[in-house]
Amino acid sequence: MRCDILIQGGTVYDGTGAPGIQADVAITQGHLTAIGPSLGLSAHRVIDARGLVVAPGFIDIKTHSDFTLPINPKAESKLRQGVTTEIIGHCGFSVAPCLPDKVKLLADYLNPSAPWLPFREMGFGEYLDSFPATSVNAGMLVGHNTLRLMAMGMAQRAPTEAEMAHMLALLQEGLQAGALGLSSGLFTSPGAYAQADEMLQLARLVEQHHGAYFTHLRDESNGVMAALQEAIDIARACRIHVQVVHFKCSGVDNWGQTARALEQLQVARDAGMDIDCDAYPYTAGSNPLKNILPQWVQAGGVDAMLERLADPATRERIRHEVERDGLNNWGRIASWDDVRISITPHQPQHAGKTIAGLAQERGMDPVDTLCDYLRADRGATRVLITSISEDDVRELIRSPAALIGSDGNCVSHEGVVSQGMPHPRFYGTFPRVLGRYVHREQVTTLAHAIFKMTGATARALRLRDRGLLRVGMCADVTIFEPDVFLDLSTYQDPHRYPAGQRTTVLVNGVVVIDHAQHTGALPGRVLRRSADGSVGFTEPAKNL
Ligand SMILES: [Zn+2]
Repeated sequence: MRCDILIQGGTVYDGTGAPGIQADVAITQGHLTAIGPSLGLSAHRVIDARGLVVAPGFIDIKTHSDFTLPINPKAESKLRQGVTTEIIGHCGFSVAPCLPDKVKLLADYLNPSAPWLPFREMGFGEYLDSFPATSVNAGMLVGHNTLRLMAMGMAQRAPTEAEMAHMLALLQEGLQAGALGLSSGLFTSPGAYAQADEMLQLARLVEQHHGAYFTHLRDESNGVMAALQEAIDIARACRIHVQVVHFKCSGVDNWGQTARALEQLQVARDAGMDIDCDAYPYTAGSNPLKNILPQWVQAGGVDAMLERLADPATRERIRHEVERDGLNNWGRIASWDDVRISITPHQPQHAGKTIAGLAQERGMDPVDTLCDYLRADRGATRVLITSISEDDVRELIRSPAALIGSDGNCVSHEGVVSQGMPHPRFYGTFPRVLGRYVHREQVTTLAHAIFKMTGATARALRLRDRGLLRVGMCADVTIFEPDVFLDLSTYQDPHRYPAGQRTTVLVNGVVVIDHAQHTGALPGRVLRRSADGSVGFTEPAKNL
């Protein structure tokens, strides 16, 4: 028998958490067709994997690559990390549905995240159908903030009955078209205006369609435990999978709370609730600069905010509130040195500078500096915020309840997406966990870390034929050299691919990264939720 590709002599980790075994892996027509020691098959291509780890392709459960994939379909920064599937549309932000009279509103709203993306009128079904060919697989979520913008703009109140019905109708259209579920961004307007009841109504519709709920918690800093409970309450009420995305206990006052939060999550899991969290292995997060200001500053949309920021009395109030409560959703930081300009479309010369540094340069107060900056950048600035404790990061890497998700976009060395200073997690998340926390520091085992990137993730997402190296599964495979696979991207020099010249990555049986070089292939597919609740790009088998 002749197969298309034979991966020979590697140590195979199947993604279940089981230890690695010496085996060959055969691939034919995009699927895994045989796995076992010394298969002795002939093949069109043999990949020599001696000394290498062979794992299922990593599933990045938490990304915003919907903002970059359409203009960067090769997704280099993800593929080079071994990522073969991305889940997009998180934190309440999705680029669809977009109603004809709301195009500018949505474009303005998402500008700090997607400054280079064209927006147009689009239903969710059309969004999925017209998604361009890409190198990675992608599964899409419907964003709650986007639903709210469509149904009621930036209104700071509960929806009327008609508005609620409108949101439900748009969500239903998305779920029927194949969206994996609903995402929420309860930390920022307008998602933050939703009370628990609104989210419950939406989650019940998700339940009817066997979908899942992915939530950026209402508060990741001083109110993180109550916010986590709100997510657990949804899992209890709706019996759907709930994913607490990019979990963190942000702000110096909340350091050390992660163990307690994970315990709370484990109690819910032990009681039968289907709930996980995910995390990135860094002590800094990233956000639009405007989102770290008190929520009242952002009311009414970007233009209203920019006008407000010119007023000295407003600035005084911001100064006072930030001193008292810390940054919105991020908590207290040690100093303004911990807020670093990352991507700044209108003032690119300042990327990499901190607010403290800029303030010093200008001989101004940091809050005035920040307000001036936002006005000059028309609200579009993104920043990095160092606010998480290293011990808490380790706790998350150890925990079986925490999956690995980058919260990063796919970007590249070249083209429009190579601009600015993005968070290093865009380039480094997965090799950082494997190279730094597993190989160097042995925070957890290699088999467990791979499980948290593959099998556990596929189970959470109900991917029916991905996430494990098993015969019959789609051939998403990541091959890397465990001694050298390591993130090289840093805050100062983020646009760097990971170390590892032998890294080879296959998506749907096609080699996309060949010895650390992108082949240009675009074999990724849009993954959709089927009526039985499972997720893939082909129809589920009848016996599922
Ligand atoms: Zn988020």
